[in-house]
Amino acid sequence: MNENSTWVLDLDGVIWLGDEAIPGSREAISILRDNGRGVLLVTNNSRPTVIEYLDKLSRFGIDVSTDELISSSIACASLIVPGERVYVIGGDGLKEAIRSSGGVIVEDHQADVVAVGWSKEFNYEMMSVALKAILDGARFLATNEDPTYPTPYGLVPGAGAIVRSIAYASSCEPTVAGKPHEPIAKLVRERVGPGSVMVGDRHSTDGVFAGNVGLPFYLVFSGVTKAADPNWKPSPARIGKDLLDLVRCELAL
Ligand SMILES: [Mg+2]
Repeated sequence: MNENSTWVLDLDGVIWLGDEAIPGSREAISILRDNGRGVLLVTNNSRPTVIEYLDKLSRFGIDVSTDELISSSIACASLIVPGERVYVIGGDGLKEAIRSSGGVIVEDHQADVVAVGWSKEFNYEMMSVALKAILDGARFLATNEDPTYPTPYGLVPGAGAIVRSIAYASSCEPTVAGKPHEPIAKLVRERVGPGSVMVGDRHSTDGVFAGNVGLPFYLVFSGVTKAADPNWKPSPARIGKDLLDLVRCELAL
């Protein structure tokens, strides 16, 4: 492996589960850095702001800089043209990213873009505004299509469940920014060199994403996946109990 390579790491199911760190994740990142590897955290969770992400990582003893993190909100906002009016269904992370990209957030259907991520406040009224905007010609963007995401208490509905309801009502398919799709793949490709790898806990997002970026996929069993499926394409290049297990195997520790 190239010693300047980067480990691209999913967050939910690799670094943490909900509000609990996955044991060994801090040590694994420390070992990677000590051995000259870069780290790039790539998550489909659109809700937290960049500072909230960095604070949470810091609580787990993991210090990263803003340029070591790419969320599906950042990828979604990369599709916004400055000055566009954006109706947002999502949390502070998506709103922050849209504003950073020059988008103007509006509260009604008179929008150029409808951007949809994970929202605990999502309701029928918001679905109605999104539907009217899309039928009036607004572009339909989604942060991600994950049907669920893992917590220590089991799976909860993901942004994909919200996105599907709007797609169904409007008969219009969104451009999806997050893993495994091209907008976030492009951002990752711009930051990694030869010999880099992608670590994730879900084949349908992380595994397919690794293939789309052009990286080997390393699967961990610390998140949603508890067994590998031989029919997966591409199949994982490595499988480990968790990130620390993979890092120790790779670096022969
Ligand atoms: Mg995950």
